Formats: sequence, C-alpha cells, structure tokens
Amino acid sequence: MIYTITLNPAIDKIKYLEGNLEQEKNNRVKEKFIDLGGKATHVSAILQQLNKSNIALGFSGELNKQEFYEVLKIYNIRHDYIEVKNESVRESIVVINNSGGSYMITEKGPDILEPDKNKLIKILKEQVKENDIIVIAGSPPPGYSSKDFRELIKVLRKNNAYIACDVAGKYLKVSLEEGVDFVKPNEHELETLYDGNEDLSEKFKKLTSKVKNAVCSLGGEGAMYMANGKIFRITPPKVKVKSDTGAGDAFVGGYIYALSNNSSIHERVKQGIIVSASKVQHHGSCQIDPAQFDFINKNTKILEVR
Ligand code: ATP
Ligand code: MG
Repeated sequence: MIYTITLNPAIDKIKYLEGNLEQEKNNRVKEKFIDLGGKATHVSAILQQLNKSNIALGFSGELNKQEFYEVLKIYNIRHDYIEVKNESVRESIVVINNSGGSYMITEKGPDILEPDKNKLIKILKEQVKENDIIVIAGSPPPGYSSKDFRELIKVLRKNNAYIACDVAGKYLKVSLEEGVDFVKPNEHELETLYDGNEDLSEKFKKLTSKVKNAVCSLGGEGAMYMANGKIFRITPPKVKVKSDTGAGDAFVGGYIYALSNNSSIHERVKQGIIVSASKVQHHGSCQIDPAQFDFINKNTKILEVR
C-alpha cells in the first residue's frame, strides 16, 4: 500500500477580486474556488488520478473536518486522519487582484499534543508493512518538533517501508540522518542544506551519498538525479504555465507512481517530469491531464552531466 502523511494539511480558499485590494473598502469577490492544501495530500490526489490507490494520513482538525473531507472527496482520496479536538484544519486564503498580484493569508495549524502524536505512531506501527511506500511531505504544525519527526521516521524504518520525504530545513536534515529512501529538494532547499559556495552539482553529490534516491528539482529547467553513479539532467519541453503551485508534489506523485510499478530510476524521474509539467499547465494545485503526457514524454531531454 502507499500511504501519504500530511502533518499540517490545509483548505486553500482562492478569491479573485473585481478590483484591487484596498483598506477600508468593500473588496468584492468576482470568482472563488476551494483547493486542497498540504503537500502530501497533493501527492494523494495525483496518485488517485493515475489510478493508484493510496491512503492519506496525518492530522486534521475536528471543527471543520467535514469541509476538508469534502475537498478530499473531489479527488476520491481515501483517508484516516487523526482529528484534533477543538482545533480546525488550517485555512490559507489567497486573494488575487484584478491586475494579477496576489496576497496569501495563512494559518499556523493546530497544536498537536502528545496523545495525538502517539495515535499516529500507533497507526503506522500497526498498519505499515514491509515494502509499503510512505510519502511524507510538507512542514509539520506547531508543537511537532524535529524530535517527533525523527521518531516518526524511526518507526517507519523499523517496519522496512520505502520512505519518500519531501520536507525542508531541519526536517530534511533529520530525514537524511535517519536514512530515508527518497528526497526531492528544490534548488533553494538544496542550496541551503549545505553551507559553502560549491556549485549545485557538488552539493547534489553530497546529498546522494546520504540517500539512495535523490532528485533536485529545478522548476522549469527540470531536475537533476543520479543513476548508476552518474549525474543526469532532465529537461521538460517549454509549456504554457498557469500555476506552479504543487509542481513539486506532482513530481513526487509521478515518481512514486513509477516506483510502485517497479520502474527504473530513469523512468521514475521521467514520470515525475511528465506529471509535473502537466500540472503547471493548470490552475489547480493537483490538476493534471493525461492527454498532455505523450507530448511531454516525447519532448523531454536527458543528458549526463560531466
Ligand atoms: P512546489 O514546492 O511549489 O510544489 P518545488 O519548488 O518543490 O515546487 P519545482 O522545482 O518548482 O518544485 O518543480 C518541480 C517540477 O515541476 C520540475 O522538476 C518540473 O518537472 C516541473 N515544473 C516546474 N515548473 C515548470 C515549468 N515552468 N515548465 C515545465 N515544468 C515545470
Ligand atoms: Mg517543494
């Protein structure tokens, strides 16, 4: 089974204004839509659209859980969240001016207390089997320390699951120390992982000495990865970008889909590129269109880095 873990999911509320945001004025909304927030939930949505069944785990808030579950239902995501009492799933409001500029207003998310942390550990201890795939993505909520995060990974390691971890900063460091199987920092996350002025491919080499499968995503430039001791650059074709929100999660979704089909490292990365380059052509954070896959596949280039 594939499980995704989102420790701090969100409901994203996007509001398009008739004009531009102004103080002490009634700023009228022209159009609105609700989207799924929280990185590993995006991976679940991508996998569902590729017909790969999976279960979304993590923490949701009790107060607005129904609204959150309705958003998960749009993508047919099966879930088993721990519902934190007297708390809500965080909301992120995105206000978009008529002229295009945007404002983001985000909540921190619930404070997770020990009994709920233990519930998640218990579910994982009981359910996760050898060869299951676990995707952990997105920053944890307040009160979920790097010590808690370490414990989470240790439990998964004990069960011999394949652990894919798309997290940043101190959580990425913990992932590498505990020995996860896959990480996908973007350029900025890899730059800040190691001090020093070496170029990105030197930092990438350091990363690959710590984790079996590492990819560094490079936005529209594609990605860097290692296969059989050699570093490769993979580049998608130019596409018309509507939104790059969730691009990294779509990459992880494509990669994990191919991994679960026992594909080679080259095929996994290519699938990540195909799915994410489709995603950026849509407004929604996890919208993709398989009709676009063939064009991207045929026009993606792979080169060995020397
Ligand atoms: P996020 O955190 O917003 O989900 P990220 O920073 O983790 O994204 P990126 O490196 O921006 O991830 O992008 C991930 C993948 O998405 C890239 O490897 C690429 O395949 C695809 N992608 C991103 N931007 C573009 C683009 N402009 N054109 C084509 N593909 C893109
Ligand atoms: Mg990312």
